[in-house]
Amino acid sequence: MYYKDLKEMLRNETARDWEFEDYVEQLITLRKLEHPASLGIAKQLVSEGARSLTDKQIEVFVNKGLDSDFYAEECRGGHDIPWSEMLDAADNGGWCGRCQWFEAK
Ligand SMILES: [Zn+2]
Repeated sequence: MYYKDLKEMLRNETARDWEFEDYVEQLITLRKLEHPASLGIAKQLVSEGARSLTDKQIEVFVNKGLDSDFYAEECRGGHDIPWSEMLDAADNGGWCGRCQWFEAK
């Protein structure tokens, strides 16, 4: 379900989403994108924005790049996850910072 939404977001991008691009750049730097095609697409996205991508590239990038490991529409506790916290959430099994904070108390 959320795959489709992320693809929709990328297809309909009208202005560049810097937070999202920062996140993708982080994934590149940390070598999280192992699929060669998704890595190339990620680099294009960061340099030229999502609008430069074809439907096919978006398809590959979401399916083989972000997939369920690096993108969740909301955390397991039902909160929205901002892009700036997405990597932390991915490392922590899908819990956002707020949930982890409550957990730690
Ligand atoms: Zn949460």
